[in-house]
Amino acid sequence: MPELPEVETARRLIADEALHRRIADVDDSDTFVCRPHSPGELRAALTGRMLTAARRRGKAMWCETSENGPDLGIHLGMGGRIVVTSPDGQVAWGGEPFRRDAQPPKAEWDRFTLSFADGGSLALFDKRRLGRVRLNPGIDELGPDAAEVTPAQFCDLIMTRGSVAVKARLLDQSRIAGVGNLLADEILWQARVSPAARTNSLRRQDADRLYRALESALRSAIANGGVHTGDVIAARHPGGTCPRCGAEMRHGTVGGRSTWWCSREQAPAEGHAPRTVRYKDP
Ligand SMILES: [Zn+2]
Repeated sequence: MPELPEVETARRLIADEALHRRIADVDDSDTFVCRPHSPGELRAALTGRMLTAARRRGKAMWCETSENGPDLGIHLGMGGRIVVTSPDGQVAWGGEPFRRDAQPPKAEWDRFTLSFADGGSLALFDKRRLGRVRLNPGIDELGPDAAEVTPAQFCDLIMTRGSVAVKARLLDQSRIAGVGNLLADEILWQARVSPAARTNSLRRQDADRLYRALESALRSAIANGGVHTGDVIAARHPGGTCPRCGAEMRHGTVGGRSTWWCSREQAPAEGHAPRTVRYKDP
């Protein structure tokens, strides 16, 4: 599922390859992906314009358009990617990485397409059809972007009163935008903080370590192509061991999400243990 790093690679692709190209036609016929717009509405609003800037906050991405046109919001959903084709037919993509076992892409998985006057195109490729395209998307409900939040802002957002689990707080997009499930596990593991630790029990040094882990996990995931490249991600399975200390990895549910942590370095405080899920033997 795309998190901030995957969306950032998609945004950079648009910024590098798709700006200032005249839009000659728009395929907005997928009424589910383009809801609440009716077919032809996006086409009428965008044809003749150009994308002039690609922006992102958290997992939300949008493009500004020329001649004071509307913003074009593109959400990658659970597995979407942006595919940009150059005038001479070169294809580049950004967003969810391709898996080795993936089926060959089908044309109908292009859910929304801008055709440029130069012969190239920009498409939202989304097999699962959970992405979304809309004009002037609202981003006011999102907190500051995780890649831009300052240390002081981060401490204020994370060290709050109340007994929310720190992982749930990291996932709360209205506080900090862009951290998804895998990135949260990676950050907590790097910082050696229990995912179930209560926000009101965090010390300043915990928040500082979490902030540094956020920065380094984002930098590394953007450079390496996605959150699946994180140091602890490959150990998130039954029988997995901590890549740092070798202790057994534990699994449970925190903030409603499947969570893995090191049984030694991220042991929860007394009474704060997450619900542990037992696996059946195969
Ligand atoms: Zn460990």
